[in-house]
Formats: sequence, C-alpha cells, structure tokens
Amino acid sequence: MKFCSFASGSSGNCYYIGTDSTGILIDAGISVKSIRKNLKNIGVDLSQIHAVFLTHDHFDHIASVGTLGEVYHIPVFSTAEVLDGVNRCYKVTEKLYQCRREMPKGSTEKVAGLRITSFPVSHDSTDIVGYSITDGVTTVVIATDMGCINDEAVPFLLKADHLVLEANYDEERLLEGPYPLYLKKRILSDTGHLANHVAAEFLAVHAGETVWKHVYFCHMSKENNTPDLILKQFDDKMREYGVPAGFRPPCTVLPRTSAIALVEC
Ligand SMILES: [Zn+2]
Ligand SMILES: [Zn+2]
Repeated sequence: MKFCSFASGSSGNCYYIGTDSTGILIDAGISVKSIRKNLKNIGVDLSQIHAVFLTHDHFDHIASVGTLGEVYHIPVFSTAEVLDGVNRCYKVTEKLYQCRREMPKGSTEKVAGLRITSFPVSHDSTDIVGYSITDGVTTVVIATDMGCINDEAVPFLLKADHLVLEANYDEERLLEGPYPLYLKKRILSDTGHLANHVAAEFLAVHAGETVWKHVYFCHMSKENNTPDLILKQFDDKMREYGVPAGFRPPCTVLPRTSAIALVEC
C-alpha cells in the first residue's frame, strides 16, 4: 500500500492512499491543479483516483471536492451531514449531486482494492469522521481535526500500522499567542483541535500495545506550533512514561503546504 500527504493544516488538507494501480484521496482541501501536480509526482493520474473520502466540511478539507466530484466524476463519500455541509458552504461553488455517496458513520466501503471504515471523532464541524484504510495487509488511519481523543476513536488508532494523528498546537504558545480569546477557547475545547501534549501522551501510554510502524503528526498550526515543539513533546512524554527506545514509533511531522515523499507501507 502507498501513502502520501500532499498538504496538512489550515491552508488545505489532502492525503493519497493507493495500491499499485488505483487510489483514493482523503479530503480535497487544495486546488485540483495542485492535486494533479502532486499525483503526477508520485506517478498517479487523476483518472486512477476512484473516490474522495471527506473527514468533515471545513473549507480546508473540501475546497476542490465539488470539481473533483461533478466535473471529474469521482464519487465523494462521507456522512450525509458532511455532504450537506459541503453543499451549504458558499465557497464551494460546484455542489455535490451525482457524485454524492452517503456513508453512515462506522460503515465500510470497498473501493480501489481498499476497505475504508469511518469512525467518530470530536470536532465542531457539521459532522466529522476519521478513516481506517486497509488493503488486507497494512492499515493506515487518518485522525485529524479533533478536540480530544474520544473513546470510540481509540480502538481504530491502536490498530493502525501507519497512524496520521493531529498535533495542532503547543498549549503554551497558543495561550501566550495573539489569537483572540474566543478562538483560543474554541481550539482548546473538546471539539477544537488536538494539543501536542495530548497526542504525545496518547502515543506514550499505548506505545507498548500497538503495531505502529510510523506516526505522522498532521494539521500543525502555523502560528501556535513548530515541528521541533511537537517532536520535543513526543520525546518528553516517551521519557515520562518510561517507554523503551525500541517501543517508540518513528515519527514525522507533515509539512503544512508541501508533499512528503511517497511512503511504501
Ligand atoms: Zn482542518
Ligand atoms: Zn476542521
């Protein structure tokens, strides 16, 4: 299985997951031009994309989904609430009609040789899901935009071989930073975004009982975080919980506006 992050953060989110010949996108928060360019760089044509799965209806995850769905005829899967939310978003000019595929939370779809299962996470969009994607051998889990790690999400996160987990902000930076109070409160809340120390603590607590081969920290804030702050928090928590080096998953902080090299999972 192959995995690539094209962009991750409030300026746009888009992940590719595929087999040898076909693939899917999780979220489409960057332009079609940019998606095409990123796909080309990993040797994939847009015609090989068999579906887009949306986590939620915030614009940084849906910017080009209308065009992909209605102009390029790529089916768009998510909950009915998320799909309705996309169609209410005035910035999405191409609405979802023919391409619309309602996928109840917790259900599984088989597309492009992959099994994609959604699970509930906690965020202040119309609705939101995380995704667990497997080819029967390897499992990639995407858990982005979540104010807390809710109980229903935990079993999915623990079963990932490759885990994409939000590490949005450093708490100190956020509190001391320039954001207005209402925005700080929103981000800090259980339906906001995930703090570095919460993500790191979760990894440290569970490191010994999982098969995590790699962790990708996603949706990093531009104003309230840096890759170094995330990795330091990760190291600190691993030390605090006494996780031996051999049990610490390798990790990467996903760049906000550029792609990583294609990962062969
Ligand atoms: Zn987002
Ligand atoms: Zn969001």
